[in-house]
Amino acid sequence: MKTRAAVDVEHGQPLAIEEIELPDPNEEEVLVELYASGICHSQLHQLHNPTLARPLLLGHEATGVVTATGSAVTHVREGDRVMVTWVPRDITVEYPPVPRTRFNFRGRDVEGPNIYTWAEHVLAHEQMVIPLGDDVSVEDTSIIGCATVTGVGAVIGSAKVQPGDTVAVFGVGGVGINVLAGAQIARAGRIIAVDLNDEKLEFAKEFGATDVVNASEVDPVEAVNDMTGGGVDFSFDAIGAEVTLHQIVEVAKPGRLGAARGGTAVIVGIPQGPITIPQGLFPVGERHLIGSLGGSSHPVEDYPQYVEWYKQGALPLNKMITKRYNALDDINEGVRSLEAGEISGRSIMVYKRPE
Ligand SMILES: [Zn+2]
Repeated sequence: MKTRAAVDVEHGQPLAIEEIELPDPNEEEVLVELYASGICHSQLHQLHNPTLARPLLLGHEATGVVTATGSAVTHVREGDRVMVTWVPRDITVEYPPVPRTRFNFRGRDVEGPNIYTWAEHVLAHEQMVIPLGDDVSVEDTSIIGCATVTGVGAVIGSAKVQPGDTVAVFGVGGVGINVLAGAQIARAGRIIAVDLNDEKLEFAKEFGATDVVNASEVDPVEAVNDMTGGGVDFSFDAIGAEVTLHQIVEVAKPGRLGAARGGTAVIVGIPQGPITIPQGLFPVGERHLIGSLGGSSHPVEDYPQYVEWYKQGALPLNKMITKRYNALDDINEGVRSLEAGEISGRSIMVYKRPE
């Protein structure tokens, strides 16, 4: 079959919106007609990376409806609404790497990534497809597959924040607001949002931030340490920049020798270079520095929980989505706008509405 996709043909050039040809699903694959897809910062990193093999398909969070399945696929069937994600749904069955996709572009057979959602259909391995149900918005839930699992998962799955813990979140874009929401769900005590942008900080209050710090006006490390009497139980870097990686370590509270261990700094945003660690903070203070990938999630159990929290109002995905484009054709504008810092929460493209 043929479908339209946003194809990164040449580094530095706008995405080409063109037809690609998909093979029939193999026995482990699912063909999904997509309803909506998020536009995530990590795709900007891919677009800027000249070393990636092209043509390249992008995007890794979406919703859609199953239109065909391979013979070995048992957890979804034709007509089911699903979430599409980059986190394999059940690693007890099969450990990654999930096999890559194949497609034909301009007459050439290409091996694609193992997931893509900037397209009107995706032919995905069954590990990347999770049942959604018919009673929930397919637009709002389209960001669960990356923004929510990465942000909420970092708090609940990776850090295991407990009621009353103090939390600081550096960078409150699409993932950062999900970290805030996760902290609120975990019933954290003080939840401090740190960003360079007042508009984003104001917005952060809607997702549970009890305090905000504008790092362009004050030293955020001093501010957070002053507010909390010496540091937080958990700090999260949703950006991955060298400066924020240092800051999350410096606001993790020190422990007391023999009495209490120190706070935990959690790297959520993907660092784009080497990380150096201030030697004065380790091992003195017994701080922890951990990474969180896909929120340490097990989607087969965790995604239905995210959907449930959304239905209950604890996870306001509808408010997190601040820009809804009406077609795949808007992707280049979506990328530009995200890059320019114009998106307070998450932007999505809506390809199709359920019948
Ligand atoms: Zn993402």
